[in-house]
Amino acid sequence: MEAAQIAAATTKPPEANEENPFEAMMQRFDRAAELLNLDPGLYKILRNPEKQIITSVPVVMDNGEIEVFQGYRVLYNTSRGPAKGGIRFDMGVTLDEVTALAAWMTWKCAVVDVPFGGAKGGVICDPYRMSQSELERLTRRYTASLLEVLGPDSDVPAPDVNTNERVMAWIMDTYSMHKRHTVNAVVTGKPVSLGGSLGRREATGRGVMLCVKEALRRLGMPLHGTRVAVQGFGNVGSVAARLLEKEGLTVVAISDKTGGVYNPNGIFIDDALEYVKNNKFLEGYPGGDRITNEDLLELEVDVLVPAALENVITRRNAPRIKARIIAEGANGPTTAPADAILEDNGVFVIPDILANAGGVTVSYFEWVQNREGYYWTEDVVNERLRDIMIRAFDDVYRYSEQHNVNMRTAAYMLSIDRVAAVHRLRGVYA
Ligand code: NAD
Repeated sequence: MEAAQIAAATTKPPEANEENPFEAMMQRFDRAAELLNLDPGLYKILRNPEKQIITSVPVVMDNGEIEVFQGYRVLYNTSRGPAKGGIRFDMGVTLDEVTALAAWMTWKCAVVDVPFGGAKGGVICDPYRMSQSELERLTRRYTASLLEVLGPDSDVPAPDVNTNERVMAWIMDTYSMHKRHTVNAVVTGKPVSLGGSLGRREATGRGVMLCVKEALRRLGMPLHGTRVAVQGFGNVGSVAARLLEKEGLTVVAISDKTGGVYNPNGIFIDDALEYVKNNKFLEGYPGGDRITNEDLLELEVDVLVPAALENVITRRNAPRIKARIIAEGANGPTTAPADAILEDNGVFVIPDILANAGGVTVSYFEWVQNREGYYWTEDVVNERLRDIMIRAFDDVYRYSEQHNVNMRTAAYMLSIDRVAAVHRLRGVYA
């Protein structure tokens, strides 16, 4: 493989650390594996990534000089189908983090039972200091260096931090140029005119809303008058807030990186969206009192939706959380030590690998539509998303009752069980 090296598939987790993503994932994995009484051989297989690729990405910059960026792609597990997972462009990308996120994708795809494995990719770069043409050359060279692993049947990337449908279109074009025909199923999150799916933009927030409704139903709580606080007003948070409001809940607090707004009578989400459209951020929005992001998490609400960053609910603030339900729109918003505190306090946590799986589910629909060459209406997409999310929620809920564990542990047990079952059937190739 040109300028790429496939490293041995044996990553040792670093020291236990509350905010380390690999450790956070592995702690949950280990607990679930122990409760499942997972066979030691399968445990070893599932605790290690299948393939880690480290590639040097040379780019001719606009000033004529050559820069070389470090890129990664990790295929964590492909036993259930092609690897699936986003690509991020960020200075903070590390192989450990990409590996953790690839494992997360494996469990997430198994929770919603879509026929994909898990992957993740990243390039260490600062996209805010690069021109469009530099980003295009970076994307195309990174794609070319991964040609042997990418493909609709093997590995299907998607957008992640600092990548978007523009970047997906470049990946799709580069791959297609090498194959000498158009292959739009090689990535998801594409522009609709290139084979993207209707409903994809709203899918993650819609999945959060569906999970919250199911949780309320299970806990015997009403929709009307139920108070919600949403941290993060981007793709996931703003859509979740708008759809929850539409279902009759009262969204009393929202926030973005500039801080939050609180109004006990409810915030009119379309109005806040209009404000953000005109002013970029919520700062200065007149629809309520200013609060901090930390205050928002500790408000007297029924439902809390962290939909911004990882590690915002930790052992420090978990004892002060008053919400009855937490729906994790973001990836990894709760640390492992905080899990135990929330459980002791009777908080019902809908874990990220279930709550935000609406996005990957509609990515799966996009891949199916590309392969069928037949495109669905938005209503069909939303209806099928609803069926999958509700079935996944039911599966996890049932598992949690049967094994007397919380929803996060149940989600990990269910997904590990599903991946392990496939390994047992397939066996270990000599
Ligand atoms: P986004 O960039 O559209 O929005 C992020 C929001 O968080 C913005 O409103 C931003 O201002 C806010 N934010 C940033 N820093 C903050 C801070 N310090 N405090 C409070 N708010 C802050 O991103 P998104 O696509 O909505 O993703 C949000 C989270 O959901 C991420 O964890 C992401 O990995 C996860 N996620 C997204 C999808 C998806 O389909 N977009 C799918 C699964 C998981």
